[in-house]
Amino acid sequence: MTAEDRVIAIDTASGAARISKSLLESCIHCGLCLPACPTYLATGREMESPRGRIYLINQWQESGRPMDERAAEHIDTCLGCLGCQTACPSGVNYEELLNTTRALSTDRLSPLARSFMRFSFTQLLPHYGRLLVLGSLLRFVQRMGLDELFVKVTRALGSPSLLGRLASWQMFVPRVPVHVSLPRKSWKSGAKVGQVALFAGCVMDVFYNHVNLAAIKLLKKRSLVVEVPPQTCCGALAFHAGFVDIARDLARKNIDLLKGNDPVVVTAAGCGAMLKDYGHLLAEDPAYSQAARDFSARVQDLSQTLYKFELLAGSDGDEQPKNVHSSEKIVYHAACHLAHAQGVRMEPAALLSDRAALTGAHLYDLPEAEHCCGSAGIYNLLNTEMSLAVLERKMKFIEESGADVVVTSNPGCMLQIEAGAKARGLNVKVKHLAEALADSLPEE
Ligand code: SF4
Ligand code: SF4
Repeated sequence: MTAEDRVIAIDTASGAARISKSLLESCIHCGLCLPACPTYLATGREMESPRGRIYLINQWQESGRPMDERAAEHIDTCLGCLGCQTACPSGVNYEELLNTTRALSTDRLSPLARSFMRFSFTQLLPHYGRLLVLGSLLRFVQRMGLDELFVKVTRALGSPSLLGRLASWQMFVPRVPVHVSLPRKSWKSGAKVGQVALFAGCVMDVFYNHVNLAAIKLLKKRSLVVEVPPQTCCGALAFHAGFVDIARDLARKNIDLLKGNDPVVVTAAGCGAMLKDYGHLLAEDPAYSQAARDFSARVQDLSQTLYKFELLAGSDGDEQPKNVHSSEKIVYHAACHLAHAQGVRMEPAALLSDRAALTGAHLYDLPEAEHCCGSAGIYNLLNTEMSLAVLERKMKFIEESGADVVVTSNPGCMLQIEAGAKARGLNVKVKHLAEALADSLPEE
């Protein structure tokens, strides 16, 4: 596909950027994507489906005018989960359509929303030190019970709009753990089979620092040297909100920071999908296009690296399982950015199945395991109502499965499913794949 087919054509009369016709016309309106779309399943409304959204984008493009409020709302409620892209028999590149639509329509955001987003994407997420300070503050607030007090006071005041919105976010914020710095370089004694660079992620390392520690443990067990080089935010949140310039800047920084040939191993599916897309993101940048393609080719989800090195295949004599819970029921929720965006399905399933065989746990299929949980980056904060409607369906299947443990591969999914379990009073643990696998290894 050429760059032009992919996204944009310039309107010769107005000079405005337009989405290319061929991209829009690849939809044959068959509707086979509808049952794969969580927002359609939650509402039953055509305009909350992929087909409906493509229709709205088409109308907007043909009108030559700014996107109207009604269409914008339906585009905003799209999770970007790409379930539709997997289901589509006509090969519609929905990801490209959505990202381009969002990038061409950021001007409809209020100046305040735009400034706040720009500030977060440039001054907060890329600065690890600032994130850690924020995490410590949040931990203090949670320890003192101030978060719950805030919610109670806000409710008592009748939830004025901004405060009410802030209070509704509280359910998506997990307990912030005490942060343990990741070792810059680590390995176990004996022969080494290679070296990898771990991409720790920002949300992942602040809220689920122990997942990165578990990943290091697993990689070391497979005789890999694990380096955690300097790095910055992957840019996914900025990119999906339409701030492509910020995402490109972050991509260039990561390419410069993570130079070399070592595989870049990622624990957060959302970050992995973005890093694997740098080649595409910087395709038009002559100074970086080749470096970006080379970088993306080095990126692996943790499950891909572990599977490649057959961590749990028992080739190491010391990898005897511990924590055997023969009655533990495990289900796997496939993160959209792992299954749909990266196409990684077999490796996590195989690793989990090996883990179950080793420990005696029972692995069950979760219905609609590849359907989005409603987290989708900052979607749950911006579209809380729809996010909860989507989560409701996911939690219903989890509850019906009778699972003790839900395993997944993205911090956003973990936050969301934990919130859903708490709201339902379900006694279910949510674990990252790294935790679930490291649980079965002996202590170091
Ligand atoms: S990306 Fe997800 S929410 Fe958006 S239209 Fe496709 S399936 Fe529906
Ligand atoms: S996006 Fe694909 S599956 Fe959905 S209506 Fe269009 S052609 Fe059919």
